[in-house]
Amino acid sequence: MIRKNRSMMRRATPSPMVIMAGGALFMALVALVFWPRNTRPKALQGSLNLQRASVAAPSQPVHAPSQAQEPAAAEPVSANGLKTFQTKINGPLSRSFQRGGLERKQATFLSALAARLLIWRLDLRRELRRGDKIELLYRPVDSQSMFEIIAMRYTSTKHNRSYAFYRYQEPGRRFAAYYDAEGREIEQKLRNSPLREYEQVTSILKMRPKHKGVDFKAPVGTKLYLPFRARVLRTTWNFRYNGNCLEVVPLHKPNARIMFLHLQKLSSKVKAGRVLPAGTILGYVGNTGRSTAPHLHYQIMTRRGKVIDPFRFHETYMRTLPEGQLASFQQHRRQLDLQFPNR
Ligand SMILES: [Zn+2]
Repeated sequence: MIRKNRSMMRRATPSPMVIMAGGALFMALVALVFWPRNTRPKALQGSLNLQRASVAAPSQPVHAPSQAQEPAAAEPVSANGLKTFQTKINGPLSRSFQRGGLERKQATFLSALAARLLIWRLDLRRELRRGDKIELLYRPVDSQSMFEIIAMRYTSTKHNRSYAFYRYQEPGRRFAAYYDAEGREIEQKLRNSPLREYEQVTSILKMRPKHKGVDFKAPVGTKLYLPFRARVLRTTWNFRYNGNCLEVVPLHKPNARIMFLHLQKLSSKVKAGRVLPAGTILGYVGNTGRSTAPHLHYQIMTRRGKVIDPFRFHETYMRTLPEGQLASFQQHRRQLDLQFPNR
């Protein structure tokens, strides 16, 4: 579990000598604590840069040493495992992250993760303003995305408010998800979703205008369901790009075409010409064709090829944590709030 930072109570402004001594001590302790735990050289490099960046932040030397002195915990979300980062928006997100002290590659990865969350609250092309503030708690992970955001706060000058995002693992669910301070899930949900379980929506239409579908990150083998009663039009064409795939026409909207790409395999029921009931298992999520990580590419178009947003085609809803989970979520959230660079 997360430990509360007791040192936050010491709020008096320290003298420059104390800051320097504290900074040096912090670097040494943090290096001791983190060095052996970082097995991947790239993550290590990133963490060192970040520590340098956070030492420069005025609030850090005051509370960081006690953070480093705490024993290493096995629990992944611990005060020890979390890194803090903050920056002001000054141009595109990734450049703002570099200006905040991150090396280019790390800035690219971390800002992309931040964008996946922000996109649900802000129009990233029109609503970010110079001087907006972004604060992150995150940790390196051994996966392609390099990092995992544990909590994030974005202060928008345009909307004169801040948006908060907290990663929380609800007991009994396969994947953690991100919630706002009230326990509402950040991502919108599709009714009749092609996937009942997935980790995250990693691309929606307004994020990448040239990309025609929505990407759901999910492990290879995750079951794919037919969202609506539909006729199968074709299966696995252009394998090099699409991998194992299929296209269907939903019978309630015969002008629409629905495509599912990069599947591991199709179920044997899926044959061109067949009409299948909603809920039929069509196959399994994979990483075939031009795909760099296991995910479902879900694309809806008109017969003439105009892209339709699945979040408009489907009914959608917002998910809130069940009553019984709220107290535990709020405790988790408060502990994360204590670790932000600016409290
Ligand atoms: Zn895609």
